[in-house]
Amino acid sequence: MNIFIIGTGYVGLVTGVCFADAGFSVTCHDIDESRIDRLKKGDVPFYEPGLSEMILNSLAAKNLSFSSSLDQVNNHDVIFVCVGTPDSGDGTSDLTALNIVFRSLQDKLTKDALIFIKSTVPMGTNQKVVKNYPKLFQNTKFNIELASNPEFLKEGDAINDFKKPDRIIVGTNSKKVKDISYILYKPFNWQRNRLVFMSPDSAELTKYAANSMLAMRITFMNELSRLCDASQANIHEIRNGIGSDKRVGRDFLYSGIGYGGSCFPKDVASLKKIFEQDNVQSDLISSIDKANEQQINYFFEKITKHFDDKSSSKNLLIWGLSFKPNTDDIRESVSIKLVKKLSPIFKKLYLYDPIAASNAEPELKTFRNLEFIDSQYDMVEDSNALILCTEWKEFWHPDLNILRNLKDRIIFDGRNLYDPLDLAKFNISHVGIGT
Ligand code: NAD
Repeated sequence: MNIFIIGTGYVGLVTGVCFADAGFSVTCHDIDESRIDRLKKGDVPFYEPGLSEMILNSLAAKNLSFSSSLDQVNNHDVIFVCVGTPDSGDGTSDLTALNIVFRSLQDKLTKDALIFIKSTVPMGTNQKVVKNYPKLFQNTKFNIELASNPEFLKEGDAINDFKKPDRIIVGTNSKKVKDISYILYKPFNWQRNRLVFMSPDSAELTKYAANSMLAMRITFMNELSRLCDASQANIHEIRNGIGSDKRVGRDFLYSGIGYGGSCFPKDVASLKKIFEQDNVQSDLISSIDKANEQQINYFFEKITKHFDDKSSSKNLLIWGLSFKPNTDDIRESVSIKLVKKLSPIFKKLYLYDPIAASNAEPELKTFRNLEFIDSQYDMVEDSNALILCTEWKEFWHPDLNILRNLKDRIIFDGRNLYDPLDLAKFNISHVGIGT
């Protein structure tokens, strides 16, 4: 079975490479020619642990190739559409790239095929695609099936998530699609059956529901952390107390400065829009992004209130710019938002991230008082405080002998990584969230 991947971003590239690694013959296509040129040499245009090595292995084994043209699509049996579906600006998902793909496929694809939409798309999109592209789906010469196959991988651990998924959702009513899904996903479905079949609408909604549920858990913990600050309670104790309840579970219960990234904010916004468009009231979904915004303001105010009217003479050292560890993705990164809010108020900001600095630089180029530094301890002595934004592993056990040289000996811990008692031994104050 030959597989054709359309879109070589985080989802498309990981999907293609994992299928190639499992022995399928895979062609990955993208309209971005420079991206394809780099990939042909095994050069991954973003940071994802382990991906580069797997690409080089599959290129050497000759079961992975890259192309900036759709011409070879007819040599393939299964097509995965993995293009971006960003927020249009009003919360709706922008399906421009998806529609361009189907318009192009309508001109090129002239044989039996199965197309999976892996991109995150609003409920009803699969049905609309079938209706809007009759040359593909209503022709009598060949049979093209369409199914929804939302992706649940997370950046930073994407290969592991793809190879060992909790579940593989396929939205289809077709027996043929189900049979092919079993063959395709067999390498990742061996230990137990992870395939879950449902209607295309349910599959599409499941993706939004999963991300919104996780965003809601984080947000609720963040609200509780503010309540902890206002009382003698401690958010670590609350997390342990509720996480030990099997019905609640331990994941996604960490308070911090809020969620970001390329998925949660846009998927929450899109689900909110879907509720509105379907005239179904949901007070809950409307509150999630609002409460998330409040959390970054809350942390920002902790910092600015501490320095009060002296901020303009103070320098800050900021650790972490990516929206989470193990990725260079800065889309909707809360750290970047915080830097933009702090920059006009403070004298100078020193920024450090192990991987994401080169992505952050263009995003922050209009802010004049920023300096990107090469090591996490550069400029400690010239900084009044450390602001921890992203919990990269190298920040977990910092050298406190060095950090005691911070001018004001204070750490604003946006991820609640540090124990205030450990810092106190070095005369460093700790400001966490709910701790
Ligand atoms: P991305 O922005 O990293 O990559 C999209 C790729 O599609 C780009 O390389 C772009 O050049 C390419 N593209 C755009 N139009 C094209 C066209 N007409 N033909 C061929 N290629 C085209 O996106 P991503 O992060 O991989 O996300 C893809 C989809 O998967 C989105 O719907 C997203 O919501 C969803 N998703 C993302 C993640 C994640 O962690 N990034 C996880 C699960 C689901």
